[in-house]
Amino acid sequence: MEITRRQLLKYSAALAAASAIGLELPLPKDLEAAHVEKWIKGVCRYCGAGCGVYVGVDKGKIVAVQGDKDNWNKGFLCVKGYYLPPILYAADRAKYPMLKKGDKFVRISWKEAMDLMTEKFADSIKKHGVHSVAFYGSGQAYTEESYFMNKLFKGGLGTNNIDGNPRLCMASAAVGYVSSFGKDEPMGAYDDIYHSDCFFIIGSNMAECHPVIFRLINERKQKNRDVKIIMVDPRKTLSARIADLHMSFIPGTDLVILHAMAHVIVKEGLYSKDYVNNHVVFKTIKDDKPAKVSFEEYVKFLEEYTPEMAEKISHCPKDDIIKAARWFAQSKATMSFWTMGLNQRTRGVWANNLVHNLHLLTGQICRPGATSFSLTGQPNACGGIRDTGLLSHLLPYGRLVANEKDRKDMEKFWGVPEGRIHPKPGPTAVDIFRAFNKGEIKCLWIACTNPGQSLPNVGPYRKGMESKDTFLVVSEAYHPTRTSELADLVLPAALWVEKDGTYGQSERRYQYLEKAVNPPAEARPDLDVMIEFSHKLFAKLGRADEAKRLFNFKNSEDVWNEIRQCSKGTAYDFMGMTRARLKKAHGIQWPCPTEDHPGTVRRYTSRYGDVLVKKFDPHATDVSFYGAKADGNKAAVWLRPYKGPAEPPDAEYPYILTTGRQIEHWHTGTMTLKVPELKRSAPDAFVEINPRDAQKLGIKSRDKVKITSRRGSIVLEAKVVDVPRDGLVFVPMHYPERLINLLTTDAYDAMSKQPEFKICAVKIEKA
Ligand code: SF4
Repeated sequence: MEITRRQLLKYSAALAAASAIGLELPLPKDLEAAHVEKWIKGVCRYCGAGCGVYVGVDKGKIVAVQGDKDNWNKGFLCVKGYYLPPILYAADRAKYPMLKKGDKFVRISWKEAMDLMTEKFADSIKKHGVHSVAFYGSGQAYTEESYFMNKLFKGGLGTNNIDGNPRLCMASAAVGYVSSFGKDEPMGAYDDIYHSDCFFIIGSNMAECHPVIFRLINERKQKNRDVKIIMVDPRKTLSARIADLHMSFIPGTDLVILHAMAHVIVKEGLYSKDYVNNHVVFKTIKDDKPAKVSFEEYVKFLEEYTPEMAEKISHCPKDDIIKAARWFAQSKATMSFWTMGLNQRTRGVWANNLVHNLHLLTGQICRPGATSFSLTGQPNACGGIRDTGLLSHLLPYGRLVANEKDRKDMEKFWGVPEGRIHPKPGPTAVDIFRAFNKGEIKCLWIACTNPGQSLPNVGPYRKGMESKDTFLVVSEAYHPTRTSELADLVLPAALWVEKDGTYGQSERRYQYLEKAVNPPAEARPDLDVMIEFSHKLFAKLGRADEAKRLFNFKNSEDVWNEIRQCSKGTAYDFMGMTRARLKKAHGIQWPCPTEDHPGTVRRYTSRYGDVLVKKFDPHATDVSFYGAKADGNKAAVWLRPYKGPAEPPDAEYPYILTTGRQIEHWHTGTMTLKVPELKRSAPDAFVEINPRDAQKLGIKSRDKVKITSRRGSIVLEAKVVDVPRDGLVFVPMHYPERLINLLTTDAYDAMSKQPEFKICAVKIEKA
């Protein structure tokens, strides 16, 4: 049965939400399995929403997927989730280890592959030291895989040359939470949607990127007509179509809008004096260090950020700013959402801080419906990378590489000598590839991600990955991808429910995925390969006995049990999340310190069930931001001055390019572009130009258009549509044949090191 994009969107939860008529249509008949032997509980492979699924198995194959009615998503999935089975049976699944010889890949055995790989890494370490090797991980790997590699590199080898692709999507949110509240990860939950009366959505096209969460918001709106939705976005996306207030602005100027909202809130006395007095400190940077200031100094700082000044800079009407500020402050409960529009910016951390500021000023936080919630792009960026500490500056469960006590704690826990963990944070994502280009890193292992397509300004990094002077290993479920084509060695990886493991999604919910089917041919679970690699490498380094002690894991459950122990007593505390409980439960939210603990829906509030408040702050009567001990368990409102993007438009490059997702596809398209229905519905990239700019440029829909930035050019078909604002063009990021990241900038946020994918200057001409 062939379906059009229009039909596909109708079937998706996104349009059910965006059409505002509550469409909940049955899926096409061919999406329902003809025959299923057994249904196995799992989680969707794609986005950080973490929808619960059941996978239908018949004769050793996944033949169907249905939503888990007992999970938070209440049985709903978006189109990507329903069409998961074909990703396992794509023709380009990697089936055997492949070694590049000349310009060709040739099949080799696993023994040859592991011998070669460990020899290359061991040689490099012996000749050039431990900092000559690196690992680049993924928010799609299982928690156990990421924890293991972090232990191997930081605790075993003593190098922090390990980072992951969440650096490209979540790092600003993580640093935003830590700098505002003392600890990473949202305090709220999807459950807050049922209690909120005002949704403040900024820099997120939720209807296409997180459709099932957006569906809940629409349902709330349909049932309660007084609920307000404020959408702050320079594109009039599907999400914006149900907004009560759509605030468009020049990309990169949202910091002034957020400050101007705070200005209105303070000036009109809409802030919560009690909350500010009891739970907030005000901070700025003085002499390169954080310094506390008074509320009065904050008010003085805000003086210049009038709605008029914000309108002048952002082109967002001042009346909209005033209205948004009043709705935000005066609603019974306000919930914010954001994703890459705030995070993928050179001021990403500051933008995150300024959203948190609004919640803290108004007391719209830590109670049902009132919370500041960062959405996640990948299924395990939170659980696998942020929580396990697989970023070059982190150690597991909120600990830091640069903190001596944290290093000592982890050295003791891992049973490695004091001083083993290097005190200096390692290179972050972009810098790992810069160092690889320069030959400072000589051996790099990339697993479960596709940086040959997804890195910003990808052109020079592709050249580095292809170099004959370095050794690149890529563990992938597909071959070729835009990364595996550049590798020296490709290791075929089991995908999704071809292996077991744990995902932790946006609302601190951990879910176990059971193995349901075997991987194809010789593909193996990455964890098995990682464990084998660690033993072989250490044997070559003359440290076989140490490896037996450190890496004595037989399966993912062994690793999970060590993870629980590692989190014990921290603000995360997973001790109650045993594998047996996770197998039965439809997800458990941490902290969950004991096996009879139900999990924590809302953090930092004892009134609503966070038992760690009493542990870390015994005198607290309700709210305590116990991660911020140095600030008396108070959260920080930050004074962050407005600064624009790294590359604003100018006379030569007068347009702004932004990139993003379509509902049918996910990230670099390695999976969704293999699903015929999704591919047919959204077959190729295009450039969205609004009718006013198109008229000025003499461009019509379907014309071929050349877009050029300071780094590269691409030719795409034009789609003239009143979605982007004047001066902005949009290109989806999914298509391997159209590398839009040849144009994007690799300038990054000074604090989070997250690149500014969302804004770069381009010129446009008819091709
Ligand atoms: S892609 Fe995201 S929203 Fe869609 S089913 Fe999967 S987890 Fe849910």
